[in-house]
Amino acid sequence: MSRVYNFSAGPAVLPEEVLREAADEMLDYKGTGMSVMEMSHRSKAYDEIIKDAEKDIRDLMNIPDNYKVLFLQGGASQQFAAVPMNLMKNKKAAYIITGQWAKKAYQEAQIFGEAVAVASSADKTFSYIPDCSDLDIPEDADYVYICENNTIYGTKFWQLPNTKGKDLVADVSSCFLSEPVDVTKYGVIYGGVQKNVGPAGVVISIIREDLIRDDVLPGTPTMLKWKTQADNDSLYNTPPCYGIYICGKVFKWIKKMGGLEAMKAHNEKKAKILYDYLDESKLFKGTVEKKDRSLMNVPFITGNEELDAKFVKESKAAGLENLKGQNCGRYESFHL
Ligand SMILES: *Cc1c(COP(=O)(O)O)cnc(C)c1O
Repeated sequence: MSRVYNFSAGPAVLPEEVLREAADEMLDYKGTGMSVMEMSHRSKAYDEIIKDAEKDIRDLMNIPDNYKVLFLQGGASQQFAAVPMNLMKNKKAAYIITGQWAKKAYQEAQIFGEAVAVASSADKTFSYIPDCSDLDIPEDADYVYICENNTIYGTKFWQLPNTKGKDLVADVSSCFLSEPVDVTKYGVIYGGVQKNVGPAGVVISIIREDLIRDDVLPGTPTMLKWKTQADNDSLYNTPPCYGIYICGKVFKWIKKMGGLEAMKAHNEKKAKILYDYLDESKLFKGTVEKKDRSLMNVPFITGNEELDAKFVKESKAAGLENLKGQNCGRYESFHL
């Protein structure tokens, strides 16, 4: 068996230890005589898996009791619709456009109401985070929306926007569990797990309880109503059982590694090596304004397309996969 260095932003590498454990349990999960893939989501064994997963992510992120943790399907992209459907009481929301995923969420919200772009970094190819200290946020906006770490463009909100009292909704897909977080600053935190946490097919939404309501937009499908999922502890229908099980293992692995403080230290150390190199390189250059650099995704170029293509080809030959897309992998080596 040989594993490559996989730099894909997502689906991204998982800790080898987690994959080995899952392999060991593949045919017989803890004496049940079956794989987690074959198990009823109403069984005692599965109940423990999902309850444990919830407990562990609550511990890791220090999630207060008045926030629900939902394990959902449909990826982050489905939450682009679920967010306005569940929150757009006044049919108005403020969006900060810092890249492709924020833009997609903004466009989706326009289906349901008035999505107002209150800031954007499109003028410089999303290479920075706009100043969000004093934005013109409509009085009647239901929420302010950000994509906290911009996977493709490699920027990160190091300071959250001043929402002027509105609830903040953040897509954290590509910075999930990468550093400690103060959950109380958000109304909703959500992310597709395949960037940092587990296999594609699961999205985790952490939602303050008062934002989980019955009075959602008319026409909201039962499955997209957060209340349906919250009332049923994410077991309204069959959840992505196996994916949640792997996420649970990753949570335990992160705990064992020292939690989110340790993840942050590790990510800083790893990113510094790359950024220091890029800053000194005569061949490569990073594309992001220094103050807004992500620790998770590091885009860089030579400035010459032919050379870029040559670099990707030669790195692949050297066992460095998926560098095109210009991303920095995550868990491939905890010890640098
Ligand atoms: C990958 C990604 C998405 C899309 O996720 P899906 O689960 O494929 O819908 C959304 N937002 C961000 C920030 C991403 O990195």
